[in-house]
Amino acid sequence: MDNQQRRAYLDAMGITQWVVRQPASKEIEETPVVAAPAAQPVESESIAVKPNPPTPPIAKPQQATQSLANDEAPPSWLTEAPLSDDEWLPCESESDELEPHAPRSIVANLGWDALQQHVSACKLCELHRTRTQTVFGVGNQQADLLIIGEAPGVDDDRQGDPFLGNSGKLLNAMLKAIGFERDQVYIANILKCCLPGNRDPHVEELSRCEPFLMRQIELVAPKVILAVGRVSAQNLLKSTDAVGRLRGRVHHFGAGNTPLVVTYHPAYLLRSPEQKAKSWQDLQQALSLLQK
Ligand code: URA
Repeated sequence: MDNQQRRAYLDAMGITQWVVRQPASKEIEETPVVAAPAAQPVESESIAVKPNPPTPPIAKPQQATQSLANDEAPPSWLTEAPLSDDEWLPCESESDELEPHAPRSIVANLGWDALQQHVSACKLCELHRTRTQTVFGVGNQQADLLIIGEAPGVDDDRQGDPFLGNSGKLLNAMLKAIGFERDQVYIANILKCCLPGNRDPHVEELSRCEPFLMRQIELVAPKVILAVGRVSAQNLLKSTDAVGRLRGRVHHFGAGNTPLVVTYHPAYLLRSPEQKAKSWQDLQQALSLLQK
């Protein structure tokens, strides 16, 4: 996609005028989450590239490293009125027994189908009692871009796919603005089960669920990881820093040193649309990494 096509595309999204938003309020994704102690991501400015990604053809913008100039139109998700963040509601409850131990060694060798079956059957933490179903992940299993959120919302819990509610709609628009349809990326979460009442995850829930995501990351072998939101960023990077401190630079994740970009969670952007401009910068950074 060249600049002209890109503008036409943005026009088609209903964009009228590019306005650079200044941060109007202090971002609130500040509360540290105590990270689970397993993976060992590395932070540096060097960039690792996946050696043999058999990625299906994706129409990618070619001017991606370039920010929009001030007279250019922004993507519509930057400017449109916010949707309500209504998807994270309490789940229902039932009673059941917990399984005794985490399956890290088993999970490490599983393929996609077996991994998904393990996730579906998982009772390793209390969240299995309140879920309707697990939400494994969705998209292109060989995607260059892996999006990692926090945990399924209520809509996702009912329907079985991640990011289906209003924050998902915004995420889809954000992806579209950098040239990706939802099914061209892979979307997963730190946790595979809905969090009752939209509470923060507990340390045990994080540590027990972590092997599933680690295996998904290995299987996708993305060129770039986009961590959306505090819980995702802090747990992937084993950091207690706020998103505002973690975004704006390139981290590297895991043994493959996969470039990892942090941005705000779409649900947070729905509540704080003045931060969308920063997320737009983050998306452009992710895209420029994809194009290296
Ligand atoms: N739905 C998801 O799948 N993940 C989130 O982080 C939020 C909503």
